[in-house]
Amino acid sequence: MEISKGVHLIEATKGSYAYLVLGQEPVLIDTGFRGRADRILQELAAIGVRPRDIAHIALTHHDIDHVGNAQALAQVMGAKVWASAEDRAFIRGEAKPRGLRGLMRAVSPVAPPPVDETYAAGCVVGGLEVLATPGHTRGHVSLRLGDILFAGDLVTSRGGRLAAPPRMLTDDRSALQRSLREVGRLPFRLVCPAHGEPIARGGLWEALAGEG
Ligand SMILES: [Zn+2]
Repeated sequence: MEISKGVHLIEATKGSYAYLVLGQEPVLIDTGFRGRADRILQELAAIGVRPRDIAHIALTHHDIDHVGNAQALAQVMGAKVWASAEDRAFIRGEAKPRGLRGLMRAVSPVAPPPVDETYAAGCVVGGLEVLATPGHTRGHVSLRLGDILFAGDLVTSRGGRLAAPPRMLTDDRSALQRSLREVGRLPFRLVCPAHGEPIARGGLWEALAGEG
């Protein structure tokens, strides 16, 4: 579904949305729960995008519902996979998350994708500004394109409101609060979270109801 010119929500990833940003170097932001690579590719084909058109796969963080199809998609796309230095080892399967995250990974293992590049401070991937937004995970990033914020799990939307992600999945609560404050200072109009539908910012960032 095209939510803004050249910006698509990938419906095949419902539950943990991935987004496609078309431009000179098309970027796929996150990849959803595992087992959906074929449906994602079909959806891209329906909008006239071939696998090899995708230049970058930008991962917001290491959770299984974001990296689920990264390995399969990277292989057919030949795209560069980006992740944060902090989350890299978890994505590569070289480190095991603890607690609930470890349990989720044990129950639903994902094939570790390659990580070709790590985000540096102030870096831009395919025209998207990368924002370090630690808290949910230590290396969590969000991305911004003009007035659109791709929030990953920095925030979720539900029932017309924004909320912080669940406390039991927050690695660092004070970092999360700081990230929310810092991102809140940036100008953007539309919030695209992984969980919940894209939503107009309005005054919602200021009213963020979160357990964080
Ligand atoms: Zn998630």
